[in-house]
Amino acid sequence: MKKITIAIDGFSSCGKSTMAKDLARKIGYVYVDTGAMYRTVTLFALRNRLFREDGSVMAEALERRMNEIRISFKFNPEAGRPDTYLNGECVEREIRGMEVSSHVSPIAAIPFVREALVAQQQQMGRDKGVVMDGRDIGTTVFPNAELKIFVTASAEVRARRRYDELKAKGQPADLAEILANVQQRDYIDTHRDVSPLKKADDAIELDNSHISIDEQNAWLMQQFESACRQ
Ligand code: C5P
Repeated sequence: MKKITIAIDGFSSCGKSTMAKDLARKIGYVYVDTGAMYRTVTLFALRNRLFREDGSVMAEALERRMNEIRISFKFNPEAGRPDTYLNGECVEREIRGMEVSSHVSPIAAIPFVREALVAQQQQMGRDKGVVMDGRDIGTTVFPNAELKIFVTASAEVRARRRYDELKAKGQPADLAEILANVQQRDYIDTHRDVSPLKKADDAIELDNSHISIDEQNAWLMQQFESACRQ
């Protein structure tokens, strides 16, 4: 069967990565979590004190050091998904915490960061057979993807999901703080100049506020089968 490219975009914490990862496993495609890449650059910037007190980024210093950042993924059979590595060190847990979440949007708004990561993402998907999730996959990274899904859910539902996820991992979580972070990221992601989060004209929209993961997976499988027939 011919391989296609699947782009899954949408707002923060709306379950994109769960659906993308499950679909990739079922159909034997490679899964790429592009949010993890922006998070990893953010972790590098935090560790190297490249944020000012007001939360802005020392962009020139970061640009000089971009060549020191090597991001890679290695499949973790226990988790059923790839772990993210920064220069050979597994940073999967650290990039999911609140410290990185609350600094990532300004990093993702920097043009040279996007350019570098988009080039790497295009390289990873050059042979098709890939499910990639992010904000700009259907609009910028793979505008010719055969299947594009745009996922939404209310900010409250998304904050609750992220809260439950952190709690389940035994990490500290405060619902009000998470909701504020989700809303702030929505704002920055949809208003930035470069590749703002927006639905591609030919993407299929899915509001998953009130559907189960099983229903969502079944729906996605139908979309995949239909895209392969075209
Ligand atoms: O998907 P996740 O929430 O892990 O993404 C973290 C952040 O990375 C987002 O809030 C967004 O600012 C940025 N991002 C992006 N473009 C992508 C993926 C993520 O700007 N393709």
